[in-house]
Amino acid sequence: MVLTTADELSQLKNDYGDWGKVLTINDFIETIKADLSENQFLRRNSRLVFSVCPDDVNRLEALDTIEDALKENYDGEFHLGGLGAYPMGGVSGIIAASHHPPDNIIDGNRIGGNLIFFISPHLGIIEKEEFLYGKIVRPGQQKITNSCGAMMGFLGALKEAGSAESFQIAPDPNDLDPTRIALHNALIQNYADTLNHILILQNENQQIIDMFKLNYNLVASKAKKMIETFLQIEKDHFEGNIALIGGITVNTPAGDHFILKEIAYPKL
Ligand SMILES: [Zn+2]
Repeated sequence: MVLTTADELSQLKNDYGDWGKVLTINDFIETIKADLSENQFLRRNSRLVFSVCPDDVNRLEALDTIEDALKENYDGEFHLGGLGAYPMGGVSGIIAASHHPPDNIIDGNRIGGNLIFFISPHLGIIEKEEFLYGKIVRPGQQKITNSCGAMMGFLGALKEAGSAESFQIAPDPNDLDPTRIALHNALIQNYADTLNHILILQNENQQIIDMFKLNYNLVASKAKKMIETFLQIEKDHFEGNIALIGGITVNTPAGDHFILKEIAYPKL
C-alpha cells in the first residue's frame, strides 16, 4: 500500500500537530517567504546557512526536496551541519558565513547583507503493513533504510544500553569520528531525562516521534547559542540581520514535507 500525500499529512498532523505546523513544500515556502519578506529578508540581500544532515536523501534530483525549494527561492547555502544536523561548523563557521551574503542596498547606500539559518533534522516515513517512522525507501533501491541513520543508530544503541546513564559512548582516540562523538555527548550529557522517558514508551513509532523532537531541540538550541556568541564577538562588524527557520524535514519515497517549529529573528 502506498501512502498518498493526504494520508502522510494527516498522520503527521496526528503525531506532530501539537508540536509544529505540518506543511507541504509549497505551503512551507509560501509561509516562510511571507514572513521573511515582511522583515526585509530577500533573495538579493540574504544568504542561506544550513544546519542539516549530510544524508543525500535531502537533496537527490529524483526527489522533491525542501532544500531544493529553499535554494530555488534564496540561491545557494553555506553549510554548518554534520550528522543528525548537528551544527559542527560552530561559531567559526557562522563568522565565515557572515562575510558572504550579498550586499543590502537601501536608497543607494550599501550595508552588509543578512543570514537566513535553516535548522532541520530529517525523518523518514513509509507504509509497510503499518505506518513506520524513521524509515525510507531511497530512489534506485528496494530495501528499507533508516532516515536519519545517525539518530536511528543512536536510538538503537540507547535501547541496547537500557538507560542514558549506562550508555557508553564508543571511544574515538584518533579523532576519526568527530560528529558522532559531539552528537552523542550532547545528547547524553544534556538530555538524559528525556532519553530515559523515550525508553519507557511502549510504542516504537512514539519513541521515534519523540526522538526527533529531541533531535530538533538539541540542534536548534546549540545553533541559537552559537548565533548569540557570534553576535557578541562580531557586534561591531556584522551589519546584517539574522532569521532562523526551524523544524523537521520529513522524507517520503516521493519527496519531502516539513514540520515547521519556528520562524525566529535572533537579530532584526
Ligand atoms: Zn541523517
